[in-house]
Amino acid sequence: MNEQGLSENEIFSYLENVKSEDTDYYKVLSSMCTHPHKIAVEAHRLFIEANLGDLGLFAGAHRLEREVVGMLGELLHAQSVDTQSVKIPSGESCENTVCGYLTTGGTESNIQAVRGMKNLVEAGGKNSGEIPNIVIPESAHFSFDKVANMMGIEVKRALLDSEFKVDTASVESLIDANTIGLVGIAGNTEFGQIDPIEELAKLALDNELFLHIDAAFGGFVIPFLENPQPFDFKVPGVTSIAIDPHKMGLSTIPSGALLFRSPSFLDSLKVNTPYLTTKAQFTLTGTRSGASAAATYAVMKHLGREGYRKNVQYCMQLTSKLVEEARKLGFEPLIEPVMNVVALRVPSPDLVRERLLRKFGWNVSITRNPRSLRLVLMPHNTPQDVGEFLQDLEKVTAEF
Ligand SMILES: *Cc1c(COP(=O)(O)O)cnc(C)c1O
Repeated sequence: MNEQGLSENEIFSYLENVKSEDTDYYKVLSSMCTHPHKIAVEAHRLFIEANLGDLGLFAGAHRLEREVVGMLGELLHAQSVDTQSVKIPSGESCENTVCGYLTTGGTESNIQAVRGMKNLVEAGGKNSGEIPNIVIPESAHFSFDKVANMMGIEVKRALLDSEFKVDTASVESLIDANTIGLVGIAGNTEFGQIDPIEELAKLALDNELFLHIDAAFGGFVIPFLENPQPFDFKVPGVTSIAIDPHKMGLSTIPSGALLFRSPSFLDSLKVNTPYLTTKAQFTLTGTRSGASAAATYAVMKHLGREGYRKNVQYCMQLTSKLVEEARKLGFEPLIEPVMNVVALRVPSPDLVRERLLRKFGWNVSITRNPRSLRLVLMPHNTPQDVGEFLQDLEKVTAEF
C-alpha cells in the first residue's frame, strides 16, 4: 500500500480506466446477470452502510428484508400450501407461513439449504452414523461441488433424460437409507430446462426426504411465462427454494434469497451471537448487505408482476428470434427453449466460441455434456445484437 494517500481525482481517473476493461454487458450472451434496474441502484446507495449481520442496529433494512421475503414467498406460492399433506423428516407439521432470508446468491442459498437438511436430520436423531447423502441432477450448478466439498455429505448425481430433465427413475435408484434430501432445478444453468418437480416431490414425500428447488435463475422467469410449470411451494413436498434477485430480478449484486416452507428449517441454521444486538444468526455470512435488500425491495415494488412479465416476454422474444434464425442457418437447439437460455448445436463449439470472441468480441459459453454453444438472452441484449450475432456465427462456422 502507498504511504501517502492519493487524491480523489487520481483514484477516479484510474478507476475509470480500469472500468473500461469491463464489458458493460455489450455482446455478452454468456451471463445470467445484467444491468441492475436504476431504481435498484438508487436504493442500494441509500442503504449502503446497512449491515444485516447486526439486525438490531438496522431495523429499517431488516424490515425491507422481511418485506422482500414476504413478496418472494407470495410469488412462489408459499401461502397457498396445503399444510396437511406435508411431512418432513424431523416429524413436525408445517405451518402456513414462509420464512427465509436474503443471501449473497444461489451458491449460498444452495449451501444453506443442504446444511439445513443435515442439521434437521441430525436433530431428529435420524442420523445412522453413516455418511448422509443427497441426490441432485447431473445438470446441477457447480455450487453443489462446493456443498460436496464442505458439508461432509455425499452428493449423488442422477442421470438426465433426452430433454435434459432429471430422470426420476435414476433419482429413485440412488435413494438409500442414508439419503436425506433431493434437489430439483427449475431452470438449469446450461439448458434452461425445468426438472419434473411434481414427480420429484412425490419421491420426496414417499421417502420422507427434503426437496430443495434451485430456482436461482428460473425464479424470476417461470412465474412470468405464458404457461408456467409448477415448480414452487404450490407443489406439496417442496421444502426450500433458492431464487436470485440479482439475475432476472434486476437487482444489484449480491442479491439471492433462500425460502423455507417451515420455520424449523431456519431454526436449524441458528448459531448464537453473544456480542451482537440480536441473540442468534441464521445466515452463512456474518456481515451482510442491507443495500441489496433495499435494492431488491425497490425494484420488485417498482416493476410489479406486470414489469417482470414484460421483462420475461422481451427476453423470450429474443430467444425465439435467435432460435428461428439459427435454424435457417442449419443450427438446431438441443431442446426447444423453455426459458431464455439456448443450447445450440454447432460444429466444433469450443473453436466457434473462441473465434466468436477473438474475431467479433462475442462472449458465449459452452455446455458440458454434450458440448454446445450456450446463449443466455438477457435484458441487456437487443434484437439488433441478435441479428448481428447470427451473421457473425455464420461467418465463423463457414470455416468448418
Ligand atoms: C446462477 C446459478 C447458481 C449460482 O448463483 P450465484 O448467485 O452465482 O451464487 C445456482 N444455481 C443455478 C441454477 C444458477 O443458475
